[in-house]
Amino acid sequence: MSEAGSGRITKVVIVGGGTAGWMTAAALSRLVAGGVSVTLVESEEIGTVGVGEATIPSLLDFNRMLGIDEDAFVRATSATFKLGIEFRDWTRLGDAYLHPFGTHGRDVEGVSFHQLWLRQRASGAGDPGSIGDYCLSAVAARRGRFNRPSANPQSVLSTLSYAFHFDAALYAAFLRNLAEQDGVVRVEGRVVAVDKDPDAGSITAVQLADGRSIDGELFIDCSGFRSLLLGDALRVPFTSWQHWLPCDRAWAVPSARQGPLTPYTRATADTAGWRWRIPLQHRVGNGYVYSSAHIDDDAARDALLAGLEGTALGEPRQLRFVAGRRDRLWEKNCIAIGLSGGFLEPLESTSIHLIQSGITRLMTLFPDTGFSTVETAEYNRVMLREYEQVRDFIILHYHATQRSDSPFWEHCRTMALPESLQSKLELWSGKARVFREQGELFTPDSWIAVLLGQGIDPQSFDPLAAVLPAGETARFLAHVRDMIDKTAAAMPTHEQFIAQHCAAP
Ligand code: FAD
Repeated sequence: MSEAGSGRITKVVIVGGGTAGWMTAAALSRLVAGGVSVTLVESEEIGTVGVGEATIPSLLDFNRMLGIDEDAFVRATSATFKLGIEFRDWTRLGDAYLHPFGTHGRDVEGVSFHQLWLRQRASGAGDPGSIGDYCLSAVAARRGRFNRPSANPQSVLSTLSYAFHFDAALYAAFLRNLAEQDGVVRVEGRVVAVDKDPDAGSITAVQLADGRSIDGELFIDCSGFRSLLLGDALRVPFTSWQHWLPCDRAWAVPSARQGPLTPYTRATADTAGWRWRIPLQHRVGNGYVYSSAHIDDDAARDALLAGLEGTALGEPRQLRFVAGRRDRLWEKNCIAIGLSGGFLEPLESTSIHLIQSGITRLMTLFPDTGFSTVETAEYNRVMLREYEQVRDFIILHYHATQRSDSPFWEHCRTMALPESLQSKLELWSGKARVFREQGELFTPDSWIAVLLGQGIDPQSFDPLAAVLPAGETARFLAHVRDMIDKTAAAMPTHEQFIAQHCAAP
């Protein structure tokens, strides 16, 4: 194994205290017991990006890893439960579908459930309904119901999967509390310079505006879009994916809660991008992610305000970004986690997951006895691949549209695709085959929900779908649908569940 550096790592410095910084600090605080000091530098004056409120189910694993009591976490962050994302107006104006968490139906003798459903639909014998009718998370979401999954694999309730909507500032504060209790030292200050070893080029210390210097052996760049360490100091280039994902700005504004608490995020396609709606216990988060090449800022701001369901709580705030990522996320003794490493728009709520993924992989490859080029390369390989896989899934939503009512949608519908996505679509278009690559975040169930939801019908289905005789397939589907229907009907409403278990004070 070749070594890019040597010596034990005893001092870790995290620059930035947004969601990325405090998630990293809370996870790494476990190292403190092993004699590693963890210092986090953040600047209140600079502040955080302040958005990032919708998550995906993997966050449950992160919270579990930290030993977090879920009800306490939901209360502390004014969170709600999320069973999926509703996409409105993406295929055509007036259309809607849900990308639910959880699985569709049940596979039969190794044959994927969606193949049975496609075969039944193609037979023309009766109406098998939509694929979403066979997913408990989708059915419960539509009815505004929620319950935690059952641990019993025989129960339909075991097929449910969920995530959270939470207040990002409250989550960072919650994690800060955990991290500080475990010995992480927080330093308030603005980083104005980065010292590097003149020979190795690795980072040795960060200098603060008040003259203090914080030295370390491993630096985690959580400085947000500024990318102070990986981008500015180490000059790792940024690759833009704007030709596939042209949205480069967002307006965000909270609004007063109105109506029932939907247990799902809503993403509504608009003239030059899309608007999000994220219900929290105490307010609703809203935003319009748009392409500045296709709409001007004022028009986008007006569209966001016009689409609000409740009164705006304050003035909209603008954010600017470019889709893409740094060419390496681990360089020398620095790892970028969060926005400092890359950005993918929040259409599938994946940024916090990518933070978590970076942290988990850092923990499994932690360079306790020094840096190894092999380990660094492995980290970069898997993280960069994950960014690309998520990118492809997001591009799918834009490309798989029939809309031509604005230059933006015309562009999305007709743009050339990354080869990796193109081949996935070709595989689907024949016999509806979907495979999950090793380490890929989105499961076939997710791809199936979005492909069918956006009207990308395959030409045929897998011949193995004939595993059951036609009449039996119809009975099997009706049984699954009925079980899901009854299970959803017996669940408490989302509000009831929260009031009973975890209402914010
Ligand atoms: P930031 O929050 O920007 O934190 C950077 C930190 O670095 C701050 O503490 C800052 O003070 C510090 N800092 C910067 N410069 C200095 C300096 N010189 N000295 C000292 N400290 C410094 N993700 C999701 O998963 N779900 C979503 O729904 C979602 N929605 C989003 C919507 C929009 C419009 C955008 C732009 C992003 C969204 N994200 C979402 C992404 C999510 O917000 C981020 O991934 C998450 O907040 C992490 O940000 P961060 O900690 O990397 O950066």
